[in-house]
Amino acid sequence: MHQQLETLYAEALAELDAITDSQAVRAWEHKYLGQKGAVTLILRGIGQIPKEERAAFGKRANEIKEALAEAHARRETLVQEQELARDLEENAVDVTLPGRATPTGGLHPSTQTLRQLYDIWAEMGFQVYRSRDVETDETNFSLLNIPPHHPARDMWDTFYTTTPGVILRTHTSPGQIHAMRDLGQNGTQPIRVILPGMCYRYEQVTARSEMQFHQLEGLAIGRNIRMSDLKGTISAFARRMYGANAAVRYRASYFPFTEPSMEVDVECFLCGGKGCRVCKYAGWIEIAGAGMVHPVVLQNGGYDPTEWSGFAFGMGPERMTMNKHDINDIRYFWQNDLRFLEQF
Ligand SMILES: [Zn+2]
Repeated sequence: MHQQLETLYAEALAELDAITDSQAVRAWEHKYLGQKGAVTLILRGIGQIPKEERAAFGKRANEIKEALAEAHARRETLVQEQELARDLEENAVDVTLPGRATPTGGLHPSTQTLRQLYDIWAEMGFQVYRSRDVETDETNFSLLNIPPHHPARDMWDTFYTTTPGVILRTHTSPGQIHAMRDLGQNGTQPIRVILPGMCYRYEQVTARSEMQFHQLEGLAIGRNIRMSDLKGTISAFARRMYGANAAVRYRASYFPFTEPSMEVDVECFLCGGKGCRVCKYAGWIEIAGAGMVHPVVLQNGGYDPTEWSGFAFGMGPERMTMNKHDINDIRYFWQNDLRFLEQF
């Protein structure tokens, strides 16, 4: 019996020393110290020990039981600490690291400028009219008072399609014809629209010119619309776009579809007119071409030019964006380089 007890003690300790997880620690406790554990059973069987040995055996058995209980408690603590350390290592979180930003995307700088323009023109009563990107030669040129072989056609280098007479629009102005015919109801209704969209030109791509770019056209048709209405409207726009004190000047110009025609400058909003890199030391920045709708164009849109008149203007959202952010190369806009796009 004595020998059996000592062997059990040695085995139990050795087994306990090899344990590395708390589940095994619990199983060990059950096996040796539980109600039906090996040590418990030995203590219960103490009655079979001869009387004279019983006291010594009982003492030793209790010592062993206590020693095993202590060893168990130490092992349990050790294993729990090891498990915690492993867990911390495996699931380590460095709380000092900065949080990771969620990539959210953003609006293209041209889209931002276009939306700003939509808002301003909407406040002034202009609705958006969407015209087509693919045009006929007739609408893009002839109906806008630019007949075939007219020298003014040289102003626009055109992308032709394989279908004769079908081209990519070189400007948003053909939308004027569509808007007049769609909304004018045979020349009986006034119109006030903006026509934004992409335009295409068969041009050498350089820092100053792209083969595709946005324009934002404006068109107002009514009775008794005069040049002063155009100037007042453009000035009101400039104050909304460039601030309450924005000064505007008009320069005579030429477009086949307006008469008279002019170009519109705003006083440089960066240097206040003193002259800087953005305004090329002129103090003024061009923001639009404009004019009174040519009688031939009114007629092609279905209006009687003796009763109706109107004005039109065109703006370049990319040029406006470049001036605003001092961007010196228009090619950045459509290269889809995130290093550029993410700055807006
Ligand atoms: Zn300037």
